[in-house]
Amino acid sequence: MDEELAISVRGLRKAYGDNVAVAGVDLAVRRGEVFALLGPNGAGKTTTVEILEGYRQRDAGEVHVLGVDPAHPSPGWRARMGIVLQGTGEFDELTVAEVVRHFSAFYPDAEDPAKVIERVGLADKAKARTHTLSGGQKRRLDVALGIVGRPELLFLDEPTTGFDPEARREFWELIRDLNAAGTTILLTTHYLDEAETLADRVGVIAAGRLVEVAPPSRLGNRQEAMATVSWRTPDGVAESAESATPTALVAELAARYGGEVPGLTVTRPTLEDVYLRMIGHR
Ligand code: ATP
Repeated sequence: MDEELAISVRGLRKAYGDNVAVAGVDLAVRRGEVFALLGPNGAGKTTTVEILEGYRQRDAGEVHVLGVDPAHPSPGWRARMGIVLQGTGEFDELTVAEVVRHFSAFYPDAEDPAKVIERVGLADKAKARTHTLSGGQKRRLDVALGIVGRPELLFLDEPTTGFDPEARREFWELIRDLNAAGTTILLTTHYLDEAETLADRVGVIAAGRLVEVAPPSRLGNRQEAMATVSWRTPDGVAESAESATPTALVAELAARYGGEVPGLTVTRPTLEDVYLRMIGHR
């Protein structure tokens, strides 16, 4: 077993009756890495992640998380991980401070609850009852509960769903800070910009299979993909051409038009373009 790996998965399979949710996934997440699992609804992300967390049993494959097989957890293993599931965040009549304090008691080396509340941006809501929080504030509380135990490995399942743009930016900062302090992070997301901003590597999962793993900038050979050069003729007609050498084409157009090329743009496929192609969307 490789000590450098926080997560190592080989040949993971899981079916629910006839429905094969995970169809042979191999995955390696290095310690210190931010890894994003990206995929459409029903692709198998949650099933995979919950097997890693020890909440679901696999049918086949080898899995190690922080050196332990989640199907046979050792004492203390769970306390080394932080888990943020899709939307818990409701604890009836308890206040934010009470909930975080309560959860901190489960961990041997928990962080000061007040500091955690501050970190997730809920300081002014510390005394608020959790049922009075907005959707985004409940999500921040979920994150607080995930990090209060100072996890080595943090699982985040669609962490910013329901966040406003400012809250997302603040959350991304928090993730960067945690990662800079050494926390390994595995997140699932539907947001391409989130994967692009946060992840060292992205795994695209579709129909239970990992179709590609790469740094976001290299996904789908994006950098090498053909560029589309578009411009307008002097009579205003839109023209465009695909080119592997767009600079040469632009130089040729500049010569043809004797200088400025009207309406010139040069684009390459966005992360969304390559992602949709990978998951088989036409
Ligand atoms: P989403 O983005 O919608 O959360 P996902 O990628 O997390 O989707 P999963 O929740 O892992 O996907 O589901 C994968 C497949 O397994 C789906 O076809 C789903 O219907 C099925 N599935 C998931 N959980 C169960 C379950 N407990 N019982 C039966 N089938 C399930």
